[in-house]
Amino acid sequence: MKKADAIILFNKLKEYYPDATCSLDFDEPFQLVVAVMLSAQCTDERVNKTTPELFKKCKTIQDFADIDINELENIIHPCGFYKNKAKNIKLCAKQVLENFNGVVPHTMKELTSLAGVGRKSANVIMLEVFGIAEGIAVDTHAKRISNLTGLSKEKEPEKIEQDLLKTFPKECWMDLNHLFVWHGRNTCVARNPKCDICPISNLCKFYNNLK
Ligand code: SF4
Repeated sequence: MKKADAIILFNKLKEYYPDATCSLDFDEPFQLVVAVMLSAQCTDERVNKTTPELFKKCKTIQDFADIDINELENIIHPCGFYKNKAKNIKLCAKQVLENFNGVVPHTMKELTSLAGVGRKSANVIMLEVFGIAEGIAVDTHAKRISNLTGLSKEKEPEKIEQDLLKTFPKECWMDLNHLFVWHGRNTCVARNPKCDICPISNLCKFYNNLK
């Protein structure tokens, strides 16, 4: 897609979803780290139903490091992959305490050194906690929309992100993180995209190929 068309696409999405924002609930930076970990292969809605009990139990990063693994697994069980997620949450808490003096770091390099935090999660944490848009988090929605619209032909999230970063100016990155998620949840839904009401259909490769 041409850069000029990508900017039109961005503006249309922004107009269509003026309230697009992060949908994971959190009050403290480490709570978002945990919520993002739990959201892997799970809906934000389910994560938000699970975290109140967890955050009541674990009020500090030390509490996350110390919680009994079986109890943690039990609380986060509804989010799936609970054994792996529990292990990562505890280890990540220990790493933040030991390597970063108990303060969630704010750079890509530091964040991705933490257990269970990949580039996508780090992008979300940097954006939502520190207001830094260094990249674009390519989750299942961003991947699908990028491929369908023609923004990227790539299949690997990191390559898709590079295409997006080259196409959109930096001032769009922060909003794009939210807009892809909202468009993917509400309109460009997996397996059943609502192309007839889509605000960017005239720019979408998939839709134009249907005609
Ligand atoms: S036109 Fe259809 S496939 Fe293209 S972005 Fe919109 S909903 Fe998705």
